[in-house]
Amino acid sequence: MRRKVTMAETIHRETTLEGLALSKGCAVGKVCMFNENRHRTMPMYKVEGTGIDLEIVRVKRAMEISRGQLEEIRGKVEKNIGPAEAEIFVAHKMILEDPQLLDDIIKAVNEEGVNAEFAIAHVLDTYESKLMALDDEYIKARASDFGEIRRRLLDVMGDIRPTLKCDSGQCRRGRNRVIVAGELTPSLTVDVDPNLTIAFVTEHGGVNSHAAILARSLGIPAVSGLHGIRDMVGCGTELLVDGESGEVVIWPSDDTMSNARAEDLQKRGVPEAVAPVDDFKVQANINWASDIEACVEMQAEGIGLYRTEFEIIAAGQLLTEDELLDRYLTVASAMAGKMVVFRLFDFGSDKKLPFMGIPEEENPSLGWRGSRFLLGKKDILRTQARALARTSIGGRVHVMYPMIVDARQFLDMKQAFMDSICDIPFGVIRHGAMFEVPSACLQADEIMMHADFASIGTNDLTQYLFAVDRENDLVSYDYNPDRPVFWNLIRTISIAAEEAGKPLSVCGELAGYPRFIDRLVSAGINRVSVSPRRIPDVRHAIAELKGIEIPGSPVTFSI
Ligand code: PEP
Ligand code: MG
Repeated sequence: MRRKVTMAETIHRETTLEGLALSKGCAVGKVCMFNENRHRTMPMYKVEGTGIDLEIVRVKRAMEISRGQLEEIRGKVEKNIGPAEAEIFVAHKMILEDPQLLDDIIKAVNEEGVNAEFAIAHVLDTYESKLMALDDEYIKARASDFGEIRRRLLDVMGDIRPTLKCDSGQCRRGRNRVIVAGELTPSLTVDVDPNLTIAFVTEHGGVNSHAAILARSLGIPAVSGLHGIRDMVGCGTELLVDGESGEVVIWPSDDTMSNARAEDLQKRGVPEAVAPVDDFKVQANINWASDIEACVEMQAEGIGLYRTEFEIIAAGQLLTEDELLDRYLTVASAMAGKMVVFRLFDFGSDKKLPFMGIPEEENPSLGWRGSRFLLGKKDILRTQARALARTSIGGRVHVMYPMIVDARQFLDMKQAFMDSICDIPFGVIRHGAMFEVPSACLQADEIMMHADFASIGTNDLTQYLFAVDRENDLVSYDYNPDRPVFWNLIRTISIAAEEAGKPLSVCGELAGYPRFIDRLVSAGINRVSVSPRRIPDVRHAIAELKGIEIPGSPVTFSI
């Protein structure tokens, strides 16, 4: 379906929209549309050489995932409705298991040199039309099964790795692009090239969604809550994005441009590093091993949160023990003995990929996620635990368990981790808990007796404490941790850590806001972990609070 081109676009009339400010800064650039619904606009491209092998791997994975989905649906339908109703899913699974189908699709990829989606659609369409041509009503009725399978496979393909689609030819994915999307899910953020992107504009997404976190860590403006903007702009439309006021101007006039604060139309600079300050540790949050350079540059005193699940999201598949080890060693060796906190995979909710076998959930943020998920998928936990054990040899790693709900679950996680590595050598491993679920915070004293360290994840803690979705722009006006009940809870946790003599840090976004530093310090916090670019600002805030002189002045990228 082609998008409607609006009048505003045709005559380049200036139009101002107001959205939700997610990340400060002001930028002007051309739109690059991110498309998440790949199978609706099925990608078609030619492949050759190793590209052919890659497409065949994609076909096989999509078939495997689809078979898993069908088996799960069959089980549910059989249990809840009955075996007769479940039969159709058995039939679909049998079609998928037919080696002829796989052979025909592989043949199409090989001989026509086409991508996986195109080959799947072509082969299944051919099957369907051959059945439709037969003069038998029963067989004709079965023809639609092939359409169903085609749809399922293409859905899976789209989810395996949704990617940037920019088809107008106008922006050509060039420099200074403003990414416009419905919502920037964690899997879509993987496609954002930080060197080319100067702003994000989305229809949906809350202040602490992962896209917002990414924008702030890149130091680029972001605005969300602009419902319907995708019908108003196309690739190549010029946008002025003000991440402070939340204003987005389509086709800004010369006057508007000259009124835009010149110093704000930045240049995405890298803030100047500030050396560590006494008695307050500032560590860095990273999503990928490749983020480590910025941490070294900003003189991070270690990594306080490595969101290891992003490596999997980026790869679009589970990684092997060796592949994980490779990434973990890169981070550990760059930090040269400083503390590195590897948060175990925090899958679920918005970080869900089809190959993980997480069923569709009514309420994913309260569903199969974090440690709950890892305890149910011990094979995934085992691979990661073994990679971490190998990373620890000759040194020390900190392993942190996500979304812990109580002391019992923490102990179960530790047991499962140790069971996974009991037959291999390892170095020093410290086990930590994340405080992001209120029930765990209320039991902080007991958890701190068992844990070696802990970190407070204020992004999720705010969400669960105040029952306010961090991803939802409609309720973001109420997503505000700065209330007495929140600070009391932080104090409770810090007293528990102090009494147990265990280190405690805060690794949610709030820790990177200089305006909260005095509240954190009053609550007993003396260690935070923030996006690498936030480190200088946080150190300036601490220095000011403690009356320490440090060179330079606070940076441009405050939130
Ligand atoms: C948090 O919840 O505060 C946190 C740091 O984890 P994430 O943002 O990855 O959920
Ligand atoms: Mg969290």
